[in-house]
Amino acid sequence: MKEKRRKRAADEPAEPPESLPLIPLREAVLFPHALAPLSVGRESSLAALEEASKRGRHILVSAQHDPAVDDVSPEDIYLWGTLTEIEGARRVMGSAQLVLRGISRVRLDRFVRTEPYLEAAYTAVPDVAEEGLNLDALAGSVRDVFESYVGAGAAVPQEAAQAIMRTEAPGALADLAAGAPDLTVEQKQQLLEMPRVEERLRFLLVELGRQKEVLDLKTKIQSEVEGTFGQMQREQILREQLRAIRKELGESPEGGDLDELREKLETVGMPEKVLDKARREMSRLEAMPTISPEHGMLRSYLDWLVGVPWKEPEAAADAWDTRRAKQILDEDHYGLDKVKDRIIEYMAVRERVASLQRESEARAAEGSEGTPPKMARTNRPARSPILCLVGPPGVGKTSLGKSIARALGREVVRVSLGGIRDEAEIRGHRRTYIGALPGRVIQGMRQAGVKNPVFMLDEIDKVGADFRGDPASALLEVLDPEQNREFSDHYLEVPYDLSQVLFITTANIADTIHPALLDRMELIRLPGYTEDEKLHIARRYLVPRQLLEHGLTEKHLAIGDPTLRRIIREYTHEAGVRNLEREIANVARKVPRRLAEGKKRKFVPRPADLEAVLGPPRYDFGLAETEDQVGAVTGVAVNEYGGDVMTVEAIVVPGKGDFTLTGQLGKVMEESARTAWSYARFHAARYEIARERIEDNAVHIHVPAGAIPKDGPSAGVTMCTAIVSALTGRAVRRDVAMTGEITLRGRVLPIGGVKEKILAAHRAGIKTFILPRKNTKDLVDVPEDVKKQLSIVPVEHVEEVLEAALLPRVPGAKLPASVTPISA
Ligand code: ADP
Repeated sequence: MKEKRRKRAADEPAEPPESLPLIPLREAVLFPHALAPLSVGRESSLAALEEASKRGRHILVSAQHDPAVDDVSPEDIYLWGTLTEIEGARRVMGSAQLVLRGISRVRLDRFVRTEPYLEAAYTAVPDVAEEGLNLDALAGSVRDVFESYVGAGAAVPQEAAQAIMRTEAPGALADLAAGAPDLTVEQKQQLLEMPRVEERLRFLLVELGRQKEVLDLKTKIQSEVEGTFGQMQREQILREQLRAIRKELGESPEGGDLDELREKLETVGMPEKVLDKARREMSRLEAMPTISPEHGMLRSYLDWLVGVPWKEPEAAADAWDTRRAKQILDEDHYGLDKVKDRIIEYMAVRERVASLQRESEARAAEGSEGTPPKMARTNRPARSPILCLVGPPGVGKTSLGKSIARALGREVVRVSLGGIRDEAEIRGHRRTYIGALPGRVIQGMRQAGVKNPVFMLDEIDKVGADFRGDPASALLEVLDPEQNREFSDHYLEVPYDLSQVLFITTANIADTIHPALLDRMELIRLPGYTEDEKLHIARRYLVPRQLLEHGLTEKHLAIGDPTLRRIIREYTHEAGVRNLEREIANVARKVPRRLAEGKKRKFVPRPADLEAVLGPPRYDFGLAETEDQVGAVTGVAVNEYGGDVMTVEAIVVPGKGDFTLTGQLGKVMEESARTAWSYARFHAARYEIARERIEDNAVHIHVPAGAIPKDGPSAGVTMCTAIVSALTGRAVRRDVAMTGEITLRGRVLPIGGVKEKILAAHRAGIKTFILPRKNTKDLVDVPEDVKKQLSIVPVEHVEEVLEAALLPRVPGAKLPASVTPISA
């Protein structure tokens, strides 16, 4: 049947008249055997349709060279077209919807008229199927390719795909497959102008195969992008695609580009081994067709290779001058004397180690030709530890790092490690991944552009680990001077020398730093500032800086101390000065507008004006508690934002001598609550607590904020005091804060974070601070003015705590309702 139709198409072109009206097609080619919808709107085309319908059922179509041309004349169309049969026609308001069936390719011989429609005399061109060729096998291959092309996601309508799968005759198959949506009009026209079946099939075999690859690549890229890759890689992929598209369009002067790349390769100062590899890859790139997807990847790789710094830095590394460094650190930062001293000591040691090392290497190189370099290494002086600045946000860690860089006259780069869980973030992805990139270390080096920058690794306490490998061990390799001479990045593939980089790490808390890293670090703690220190910092640094940033001078704005103090107390609540700086910026922002409104007078906001400028105060300043209460005790805790006070609460409710804990307490904290509870029960008589009061009741302890998990032993004394207060009904002094671990026998053990805790208590207006006696040695870190304003009570036993914190029982007074057992 199919065979017959094909024959008829080829054999009966004589049947229709020799000249026929013609419809020009915009952006379409219609093939014999194909069924195609067509919508006709141009007047000349409608006229052609009308005339053709009058004469019978046949009409000619041919594609326009330029689809934009409206008024088509013979020069505007291809001279190969298609004879078609009108299968259906529907006229709708000045246009017509047609369904045409292609019958045969035709050559247009001459135009018999061009007005009011085109009419052409034509010759039908039958398929040429040469004998002896295995066309069927070729057709089978085309069918297979077409099937996989559809499988790769080509937009072929289902019926069309089925028709192709069913068609056996090679010529018809070729014509149906020629309708593939990803072929261009030019390609289709080429196919239309090929009467030789074999030629058509071969053409399709290549083109469809290529389109399938393109689709596969697209899907692969898409799924990879959506899957495991982040924003950076996504950009990279898009860039690669863009580059491929540009090439396809012939827009990129790739040749010149490559010459430039090769030249860079030779001049950026790579070590010989690296250069060898780069040259090999470069030759591969030059030999590769630009449309190959690998071309883009290889190109990016070489771009990275020339992008990282290789040349030895010009300034010698011994530019460290202690006096100048001290001066710069002082210029940039108020206070922090101990921190600055330690930084300077650290740097001096580091420089000394480095110079000894250089000497010993020079000696090894001189005296021992032929000795392996390993030998020289073992004689090196001890490696210096890695500097780690630890403290809450806004205490100046980053700006200290920048000052160090300034003192050394080096570039500075910052990379945040927060939330990294994948080793590849540090070490990069292998190049075989689509969209692979080097890790953050190499990215940072490229950004720095020199081999010896000060490289700040922020948030080293927030590095995690999961199934994708352990970033901490990769970091260890980065930071270890023994290993980082030949740091290996998976993407770069060649060893990169990091030994001249000065790494400075920062963290909010030391507890969560990976132990292996911690072991190699020299911690310098910045616990936070007192109110007076903040005031100085604001006056000397923050206000002048904000004036500058807002294009103002002292003539426009002055913020006096009382106003600054109110901002510190009521608009910020922090250990550092980050929010303080932000609020000062908020004040400064108002000035340009005042000036624009013609208010030329200097703006000097008083404390009372702040609400109009900054809105209502955000924090209460003053005591954590406003009255002395039973069962409410002020404790202090340290978290990554610095120290803070919190109120531990206890009440007595009917029960069976048990107790309840709430507030998301960790295991250690829970055990310390149990210890406190046992201690209180054991010593009930000493505090005049009746046995029934314990046995018929239960104690409930709550540690706010309830939603935040907390742990650690240092709230032991606080919980014990709350329990005893609740059981005895003795109120707790509201201006007392305390900290300390407690043992079953009531001994008070030392805790950490003393300075942070005392600063937080001082900030909250506490007058008396109860501290484990063993911690009194830590008081040297606490600023004098704070020590003057706080009375610090060193204790060894919880009895002393209770003595200092609990008010005497009011004789004859009844227990407050909240602590009176309902059964009593
Ligand atoms: P961190 O890195 O610890 O979060 P930053 O270094 O970003 O903090 O400091 C926040 C802002 O406070 C910076 O503008 C910094 O210059 C300023 N700052 C912090 N401490 C001081 C100080 N002691 N003297 C002067 N400015 C300071």
